[in-house]
Amino acid sequence: MIISNGITDENKLKRATDIIIGLQNELKGYIVKGHGPFLAAVYDEKGNLIAKTANSVINETCSNNHAEMNVIKAAEKALGTYDLSSYNLSLYVTSEPCMMCLGGIMWSGIKAVYYGVPSKRVEEITGFDEGFKPDWFNEFKKRGITVYGNIAQEIGEEVLRYYVNQGNTVYQPER
Ligand SMILES: [Zn+2]
Repeated sequence: MIISNGITDENKLKRATDIIIGLQNELKGYIVKGHGPFLAAVYDEKGNLIAKTANSVINETCSNNHAEMNVIKAAEKALGTYDLSSYNLSLYVTSEPCMMCLGGIMWSGIKAVYYGVPSKRVEEITGFDEGFKPDWFNEFKKRGITVYGNIAQEIGEEVLRYYVNQGNTVYQPER
């Protein structure tokens, strides 16, 4: 079931569903090339793609290289700014952001977040630790950031199962 921290805008949700299903379909290709099982994209309000990146923790040997952190860095580089707040950008990601990425999103000036698989299911399926995230829907709302979650969740869960079943590394198990 779709969850949100505001009033659901059906047009935005429809567009987000199309984008996230597209990301989930592309994600298997990134997994085969050695990426972690998460893919993110940043779009402007007219629907132009600004940046798209996958998780690269293992293949670039950096624990911070989550899909969301990578895509924020790429978007800021593409637009030549460290503050995206005046661009009214939305971030789309195949699974719910972890505790690090919530911080990264807040400091970037991204205005909306749309995600696929909720963290609880990511943890159950893969064993990745997503960290602690107290009441982030409300905290983001206070800061003017819209959130929609659980978009095309079943399709995303299937891709995560594929990652695990292929015997890929879970690099941040709970510890
Ligand atoms: Zn993350």
